[in-house]
Amino acid sequence: ETEDSKEKLCKMIELMDGFKASKVLFTASKLRVFDVLRSSKTGELQAEDVAQEIKASMKGTERLLEACVSLGLLQRTGKQYANTAMSRHFLLSDGPLSLQGYIQHCNELVWPLFTHLETAVREGTNQHEKAFGKTSNNLFQDAYYSRHEVKLRFMKAMHSIARVSGRDVATAFDLSKYKTACDLGGCTGAMAYEFAKAHPGLSVTMFDLPKVIEMSGHFRPHDADDRVSFVAGDFFKDELPKADVYILARILHDWSDEKVHILLSKIAKACSPGCAVLVSEIFLDEDRKGPSRGLLQALSMTEGRQRSASEYSLLLKSHGFTAAQVKHTHNLLDAILFCDCGAATSFG
Ligand code: SAM
Repeated sequence: ETEDSKEKLCKMIELMDGFKASKVLFTASKLRVFDVLRSSKTGELQAEDVAQEIKASMKGTERLLEACVSLGLLQRTGKQYANTAMSRHFLLSDGPLSLQGYIQHCNELVWPLFTHLETAVREGTNQHEKAFGKTSNNLFQDAYYSRHEVKLRFMKAMHSIARVSGRDVATAFDLSKYKTACDLGGCTGAMAYEFAKAHPGLSVTMFDLPKVIEMSGHFRPHDADDRVSFVAGDFFKDELPKADVYILARILHDWSDEKVHILLSKIAKACSPGCAVLVSEIFLDEDRKGPSRGLLQALSMTEGRQRSASEYSLLLKSHGFTAAQVKHTHNLLDAILFCDCGAATSFG
């Protein structure tokens, strides 16, 4: 009984302090604490050296570093601070699995939005205008892409998630019978390059808004595969590139059912028999009791919503696509492969 209530109290404390822990991570990232420690000769520094490097007060730096140790973000031996394996893996700005881009997006965009959660819940509306003083009818055109640095920050955020999850999504299914893919709303191309790497016979067209495509050079990998090409357009208005597989990674959750149907009917029209659609999202549990990552994201209150695998299947079914395989990757994004009804039997 008392053990049980202590456990409950611990859980409560964790929830009450969760926002402080997030902000410690965001702040240490923004002040480049993890990069500074990595760049030192021995990989270790004392608090005063870190304070000097990050141009911050000694008192503040010391408290930040101690808090990081308690959260498993740093380790300390004597007076020397160093990165933990987890921070070396995910928090160095130039690491292949760096989450820095996404963390900065959380700090600068999601954090201010969530300070207005109460209004968001009362009104059932997105709080972008309240947080940033601008109206946004279209989240991308009006909010993310109206200023260059905001656009770049958003793209870096998408890039970091795509880099971490892309390989698992790209290798989720055997796509060897397909020759061409089109990654709709592919952003920086990170996912497209993962698909090209995973499937030697596949050419991938990355399709996104012109303002995004013009930045694609910035995110081009050193070993960029020339089977990836870029096409600019609006997937609600313009003709879609022809492809055997259409990839929709983190697209459908952004839009109202009405817009989802517009997009899916355009895909269905562009598809020839035997084509496939690959949807990658966080899949909610069928009883909608988790994962909390998806349910928390839903509180950003965009016009879209989070769905379970069977809800995605229903949406796609109304456009003639049958779910062939579902893959829970245990990474940040899951995936379903749909094929058009005529070809469904070939998946057994
Ligand atoms: N698929 C990428 C991934 O998983 O990393 C990016 C997902 S991001 C949430 C949504 C993407 O859709 C952005 O790159 C955005 O520019 C693109 N997008 C939004 N509206 C679009 C439109 N009307 N036409 C084409 N792309 C659009």
